[in-house]
Amino acid sequence: MSEKDLSYELIPSTCAYCGTGCGVLLEVMDGRLSGVLPQKDHPVSKGALCLKGWSSHEFVYSPRRLDKPMIRKDGVPVECEWEEALKVVAEGLQKARNEHGPDAVGFFTSARCTNEENYLLQKFARAVIGTNNVDHCARL
Ligand code: SF4
Repeated sequence: MSEKDLSYELIPSTCAYCGTGCGVLLEVMDGRLSGVLPQKDHPVSKGALCLKGWSSHEFVYSPRRLDKPMIRKDGVPVECEWEEALKVVAEGLQKARNEHGPDAVGFFTSARCTNEENYLLQKFARAVIGTNNVDHCARL
C-alpha cells in the first residue's frame, strides 16, 4: 500500500459515554476508528474530555463486545435472533408481574441511552408494567 492510499479524517461527533454531551473528533484512519480528540471550541466541553471520553472509541472493535442478542439455554449464554430474545424477555416480565405484582419488576436505565430512550423505558415501566421502580446508572 502506498502513502497515497492512506486516508485520515477527523469527524465531529458527541461523546456517547454519558449525558454531558462533550464534543469529540473521531480519528478515522483508512475507514477504521482509531482514536478520539476533544473539540477545542465545543460549547459544552470547551476542549476537555474526561478519561472515559478519551477512551470512548476503544469498545468499538473489542472482541468482548456483544453485538448479537443472547439468551441462556441450560445455563449457557447462546446467540439467538432478536425475535426469540424479545419473546423471552416479554414472557419473563409478564410472568414476574402476574405472579408477584407490578412492583416485583424494576427497570434500570443508562446515561448511555438518549433522553428519548430513557423516557420510553420509564413510560413502559409505568404505563405497561404498572410500577414506579425506575432508576438510573448515574445514581450507583
Ligand atoms: S467526555 Fe466524559 S463527561 Fe464528557 S460526555 Fe464523555 S463521558 Fe461524559
